[in-house]
Amino acid sequence: MTQDFKIAVFAGDGVGHEVTPVAKTILDAAAARSGLKLSYQDLQGGAQCWRDTGHEIPPADYAAAGKADAILLAAMGLPNIRYNDGREITPQISIRFHFDLYAGVRPVRPIPGVRHILADPAAAEMDFVIIRESIEGLFAPSAPGTLTDDDATETMLITRANSERLFDFSFRLAERRKAQGHQGKVTCVDKANVFAAFWFFREIFEKRAEAFPDIIADAAYVDAFSMQMVQRPLTLDVAVTENMYGDILSDLGAALMGGMGYAPSADIGDDHAVFQPCHGTAPDIAGKGLANPTAMIQSGAMMLEYLDEKLGAPEATQAASLVRKAVDAAFAGGDLVTCELGGDAGCAKVQAAVLAAMEGIEA
Ligand code: ATP
Repeated sequence: MTQDFKIAVFAGDGVGHEVTPVAKTILDAAAARSGLKLSYQDLQGGAQCWRDTGHEIPPADYAAAGKADAILLAAMGLPNIRYNDGREITPQISIRFHFDLYAGVRPVRPIPGVRHILADPAAAEMDFVIIRESIEGLFAPSAPGTLTDDDATETMLITRANSERLFDFSFRLAERRKAQGHQGKVTCVDKANVFAAFWFFREIFEKRAEAFPDIIADAAYVDAFSMQMVQRPLTLDVAVTENMYGDILSDLGAALMGGMGYAPSADIGDDHAVFQPCHGTAPDIAGKGLANPTAMIQSGAMMLEYLDEKLGAPEATQAASLVRKAVDAAFAGGDLVTCELGGDAGCAKVQAAVLAAMEGIEA
């Protein structure tokens, strides 16, 4: 019997509406080839939704997403729709708190054939993962900042319980990667030399490392680590860090891969998971047909792997592998050049190239 997965889909705002149909089409093609069915439920959420309904994500849509096997989210937020205090509407962040999605998984692996920014050709081999803590740190809603006419403060919250599960998640990921031939190393990225909160974070990391003796436990200050990402990316395997640092470092990772349109991600909790590209709604290119859907497609591949891990469906891992191979094959010749890299390949061209490449791949 064909396994049928329920996928909640938030296209959101801006280019979200352009990259979502592409991802669905590619995922459907891979699923059909692998004996799977993906049943999508399109849900409301985003800045426009907030303007129209007064809700970032309406309660009924949150409830529906909670019942799905996985959530696929494109991008939300628009610079011209803001709260009175100037903040943008950010349901793509709120959803992490709502579903307790503490581990943001951001792989940094350039696609062969996509021009990357580093001059050293060996950099094409980089393959590491940033784990961005996603519900605490400087983004914790339970530790809001203060604002007066004269000063503003922000609070960074780090708790022992959340850090422990975050580090365990990172060490387990390093174990799985080690089985696939990676180093088996986790680097704790912090600023433990200056902030007590980060010394606390580092101490918890070192304590949890004792439970994973086969994995190397490494540590780096965030400033030095950002240099390492550029100068010695091949030395990295899994890096785990605080929310704000992870936000910044994952954009650096996206730049190393060719641009925001190449950076996939997953926000994972113990019961739910959201898969969304690292990029935002890109209002500067929305509606022009220029958006690169690759990050959204690759986020979909991460979702398929999660479905196998969560629900035990090896066909989903097979479909994920088909998607990745098709994306790699589409870009391999170097002729498919997206707008971040000066080309004109947007959603239509990338979709056609990936589908054509998939045809030629043995399942
Ligand atoms: P957010 O804060 O919501 O993550 P952001 O303000 O960092 O968003 P993005 O919307 O990600 O900004 O856009 C940053 C830059 O990357 C813009 O120049 C945008 O055009 C480009 N960009 C983002 N997504 C894509 C994409 N899918 N394809 C091509 N370029 C993109």
